[in-house]
Amino acid sequence: MPILCAMNTITEPSRDIPITCEVDVCVLGGSCTGAFAAIRAARRGLKVAIVEKQNRFGGVATCGLVCIWHNDLDDQYDEQIIAGLSLETVERLKRRDAVEVRERNPDARYVLNTEELTIELDELIREAQVQPFLHTMYCGAAIAEDGRIEAVFIENKDGRGAIRAQVFIDATGDGDLSKDCRAPFSVQDDLQPPTTCGKIAGLEGINMRQFYNQHRDEFAVPKDAGWSCRIPNGAPVRVHAETHVFGANVADATQLTHAEMEGRRHIRAMMDMVRKHMPERREQLCLYDLSSSIGTRETRRFRAEHQLTEHELLHGHRFYDAIANGTYRVDIHYPEGGGHIFRYFDGREVSTRHDGKVWSRWRDEADAYPLFYQIPYRTMVRRDCPNLIMAGRMIDADQGAYGAIRVMITMNQTGEAAGEAAALALDGTPTWQVDPVALRGRLSEGGSIMK
Ligand SMILES: Cc1cc2nc3c(=O)[nH]c(=O)nc-3n(C[C@H](O)[C@H](O)[C@H](O)COP(=O)(O)OP(=O)(O)OC[C@H]3O[C@@H](n4cnc5c(N)ncnc54)[C@H](O)[C@@H]3O)c2cc1C
Repeated sequence: MPILCAMNTITEPSRDIPITCEVDVCVLGGSCTGAFAAIRAARRGLKVAIVEKQNRFGGVATCGLVCIWHNDLDDQYDEQIIAGLSLETVERLKRRDAVEVRERNPDARYVLNTEELTIELDELIREAQVQPFLHTMYCGAAIAEDGRIEAVFIENKDGRGAIRAQVFIDATGDGDLSKDCRAPFSVQDDLQPPTTCGKIAGLEGINMRQFYNQHRDEFAVPKDAGWSCRIPNGAPVRVHAETHVFGANVADATQLTHAEMEGRRHIRAMMDMVRKHMPERREQLCLYDLSSSIGTRETRRFRAEHQLTEHELLHGHRFYDAIANGTYRVDIHYPEGGGHIFRYFDGREVSTRHDGKVWSRWRDEADAYPLFYQIPYRTMVRRDCPNLIMAGRMIDADQGAYGAIRVMITMNQTGEAAGEAAALALDGTPTWQVDPVALRGRLSEGGSIMK
């Protein structure tokens, strides 16, 4: 029987938890970041489990319907700087005509069919013999006094269980395990807001930014500015990410619930505007799909052995322990009113709002500039968490650097690095002491491009 304590708490009786499985590496969070971490570790012959709370792998790229992977070439589109599992996945999707490749396009290099990606990730996980747990939530950890994680607790249809492992990779985006390890984190006051995406037919050719803001008062939705993208193979459906739920920290359960419902209300408002003000479109108008989980841009960001700064990024600082390359511009969505600011390597800067764009420069036109940036492994590890590796959008970067590296083609590489680093830490080496030369060597062997 539960014992009632003070007014707002209740004591849960203690109980023994069954060990669901014992593995070498346990990955929490199954976006491409987490899935690629698991696959890289499993391809080294390790026993690997992956835990994902939703019904599929892929995170924002599948559940969130976000279908764009950015540039894998340098800033002048000359040299390949990203490969590994991202490119392998793209090649596999090409065989199914499930990806559109756009040449010299700063906004989208690969446009993916997110449903085909879902099935492809299943295949990759299966082939690598990773032990998958879908519909399974990470919900706590057993942590020793020296900071080592002994096991994590999970919950699913079978109830509560535990997974023991030598090394744990936190790829939950929000850093749920890292938080339980008491790794310090921050949540910005001006968080980049989340978005509910929808696949919608019948909006082709409408300037949604203008149309939405013209009619938004009538539908009680805030001023906003987003984007949309055609899906591969010319289907008459676009993915629309037109709105934001401002002020929501979706690592907070109450705010997450509110944001999910509010984001869906925005989609309906958008469609109702068309029904009312463009009745001639009603016949084509159709909501095909909604993101099964609101797309998160930013929540907790954790401190690690190194914080990547915007200065390092935009000046192309080279790191001895670089594990990822990227070119995606600094892209910070405004916390209110919609739109974003882009800061490019070549010195251009543009602020986009619902009512237009304003261009300026942050670097002199005559200055030389780097063609890509790097992420050091030290942004993913802490010395007080000896068997934890962080991967994905929780890693240590300041606001500007974070605005650039948070995109998938870049985050995917942090997953791959985490998987390879976990294999190197299996002999008991603390994760923060993994040899960067060996790590880069392993990454390169597995198909990643190390510069
Ligand atoms: C609307 C929108 C548009 C975007 N546009 C682009 C774009 O065009 N191109 C681009 O590259 N990037 C884009 N981004 C950014 C990009 O999608 C994210 O930054 C990126 O997906 C982060 O990857 P991640 O693996 O760290 O996190 P996520 O993709 O959020 O993955 C985290 C995973 O962990 C799981 N998880 C979380 N908590 C738990 C738990 N407790 N137990 C088990 N599982 C858990 C989640 O279900 C999820 O699968 C966009 C983001 C949004 C929201």
